[in-house]
Amino acid sequence: MAAKVSVKSKNGKVRRAIVVGGGLAGLMTVIKLCEAGIPVDIISLVPVKRSHSVCAQGGINASVNLKGEGDSPQIHMEETCLGGDFLANQPPVKGMAEAAPGIVFMLDRMGVPFNRTPEGNLDFRRFGGTLFHRTAFSGATTGQQLLYALDEQVRRYETVDVTDDKGVTIPGEKMVRKFEFWDVCDLVIDDDGIVRGVVAQDLKTSEIRSFVGDAVCLATGGVGMVYGRSTNSVINTGSAAAVAFRRGACYANGEFIQVHPTAIPGADKLRLISESVRGEGGRVWVPRDQNDKRKGKDIPEKERYYFLEERYPAYKNLVPRDIASREIFKTVVHEGYHTRPGVRASYLDVTHLAKTPSAKQALRNKLEGVLEIYEKFAGEDPYENPMEIFPAVHYSMGGLWCGFEKDARGSLKMGSPANAQTNLPGLFATGEADYEYHGANRLGANSLLSCIYGGMVTGPAMASWRESVKGSAYDMDDSVFDKAAKRAREEFEGYYKRTGSEFTENAFKIHDELAEEMLVKVTVERKNNELDGVIAKIGELNERFEKCEVLDTTPTGKMNQPAVFLRHLRGMLDLAEVIVLGARAREENRGAHYKPIFDPKRKEAKEYGDAGGEGAGKGRDDENWQKTTKAFFVGPKSAPKISYEAVDVSLVKPRARVYEQSSMDAAKGSLGASKDESKPEAKPAAQT
Ligand SMILES: Cc1cc2nc3c(=O)[nH]c(=O)nc-3n(C[C@H](O)[C@H](O)[C@H](O)COP(=O)(O)OP(=O)(O)OC[C@H]3O[C@@H](n4cnc5c(N)ncnc54)[C@H](O)[C@@H]3O)c2cc1C
Repeated sequence: MAAKVSVKSKNGKVRRAIVVGGGLAGLMTVIKLCEAGIPVDIISLVPVKRSHSVCAQGGINASVNLKGEGDSPQIHMEETCLGGDFLANQPPVKGMAEAAPGIVFMLDRMGVPFNRTPEGNLDFRRFGGTLFHRTAFSGATTGQQLLYALDEQVRRYETVDVTDDKGVTIPGEKMVRKFEFWDVCDLVIDDDGIVRGVVAQDLKTSEIRSFVGDAVCLATGGVGMVYGRSTNSVINTGSAAAVAFRRGACYANGEFIQVHPTAIPGADKLRLISESVRGEGGRVWVPRDQNDKRKGKDIPEKERYYFLEERYPAYKNLVPRDIASREIFKTVVHEGYHTRPGVRASYLDVTHLAKTPSAKQALRNKLEGVLEIYEKFAGEDPYENPMEIFPAVHYSMGGLWCGFEKDARGSLKMGSPANAQTNLPGLFATGEADYEYHGANRLGANSLLSCIYGGMVTGPAMASWRESVKGSAYDMDDSVFDKAAKRAREEFEGYYKRTGSEFTENAFKIHDELAEEMLVKVTVERKNNELDGVIAKIGELNERFEKCEVLDTTPTGKMNQPAVFLRHLRGMLDLAEVIVLGARAREENRGAHYKPIFDPKRKEAKEYGDAGGEGAGKGRDDENWQKTTKAFFVGPKSAPKISYEAVDVSLVKPRARVYEQSSMDAAKGSLGASKDESKPEAKPAAQT
């Protein structure tokens, strides 16, 4: 961290940093910048308290080991690397796992109402991909409690005056200025390629203008809307990341999209039933008899097929998400099991945990927020009836590429400007918008952690960059900013003038068609012939996009949602192409990216798609594919360029990803085995 920051530019203007996004990652970045004395403009599509982080249900990971199970940050790091199928660079993962206990205690002190044990300790529940109770939680509304706690801290800075280098108050300047309902639609990049600000549109008035910043961070969340129906908020179009991509930012590991095993199937949206339900003892099953027409609660125990428990005796219902989703998909879609004939779903059951009034109350204390969602949208009481669930698109492990600098212990060197910085100098990315912490598959409850840790890393990195950058954006000629705003205005006006007989296409229909292709062919199972079809379809949709009618010709000066949607749709088409091209090129199975042909257990199964061939059944292929996919925008009519980068696996040696162990002891046996580089080497005992 730079020791002293210069608040004013040469010409006397207050030098601000810009943080786009007010979810957990964005807010934490803002807090860290303010702690370093740097004023910030925060820009958000929605009120920051409505950011998608508010939806998070289950909890946040930290190896505090309050239950005395022998958990540690070292094991947390190892399980995160293993869960991510060894595609994550390990120094950021180490930094995150080591910081986690301190983060949970910090949130506790900020007033987050975490659940507690009867003795008054923080309570921890189990989540997927670990055998330890590692997840701190606030009932089933953890994201909301965390977001509100950080929002409170940021609001405090909204009232704090900016002081100059001598400590004198600068009139009218507060540490944080908030711009809500603004849509960032372009970057300001100077002639040296340095990002100097953003262009954003006021969604209430359609005004487009530039914002100047001496470091810019995109903390703009995930891309679920590329798939239309997902567990994500409908604002999660990935628009800001797509804008950065068009301006040259590298997008990494796009093909790694997490499909969560348990969501309520729905025509409009797929509402998540959190992993915390299984963490508290919820069980996944289907009737053994595929013609069984009874209600789930009427089917006796011995006639139920608890397929996850049978196939994974140690981890049971808490195998990592990619595995659980594939098993549910395989069981329901390929093996023909279901909850009721004609319904593509499996049961997730908590009724056995609510047999007595006191047990039901205890369950309510831990899961009310999520069980309420089921009751409201499925119309059935989950305390009485097993819930019907099916996998749903949930999270993007990929995102904007960013760098990092290691310290001597192999962790992150805090305060290095390389951390979280994209390939565009001056542009940083954090939270779900980056690709840094989860590799090929994210473990449950690691995202809230990576968002907050990401903010703690990104703030100091931006502070260092701001001190070292050549010349302040605030001393630059206005023309740099005017030009960028003019370009965005022209683009928008171009959209809103799209009326007349040549504009025959409907943007919402194009989005539906894109989503359908992506949902069916680029989720749990991927087959090359189908991916080729999706690539061709995206090409067709891109052409049709040019003929989209705007639908609303309201003059600028007012809100014009369909025109804004056109801009977001263009971004979704770009990101979809990145996702599919990455998936098509990756000829192996790793984490969430799975081609049946490479499954060692299914290589002969022609009915699953590709009919054998080179490499069939090889599974994960470290020799050729232990590398990060990097996609670059080439031009509006060209496919993105893909290149690859080696993964830093210096801390945990890649090993086979096995979760089928027969017992907890067997599964735990191999953990903690990797060398902790931060500890001094134990001296060998003297030979006698
Ligand atoms: C239903 C659900 C439950 C989950 N539960 C958990 C859980 O229990 N534990 C866990 O670890 N993870 C969980 N996750 C994942 C986790 O919630 C998210 O990954 C995380 O909250 C993302 O936070 P973020 O700060 O990166 O982005 P977000 O919270 O999505 O915030 C993005 C911000 O960017 C802004 N923005 C976006 N685009 C623009 C633009 N163009 N211009 C201006 N502003 C823009 C938005 O307004 C918003 O403020 C869950 C996810 C879902 C969908």
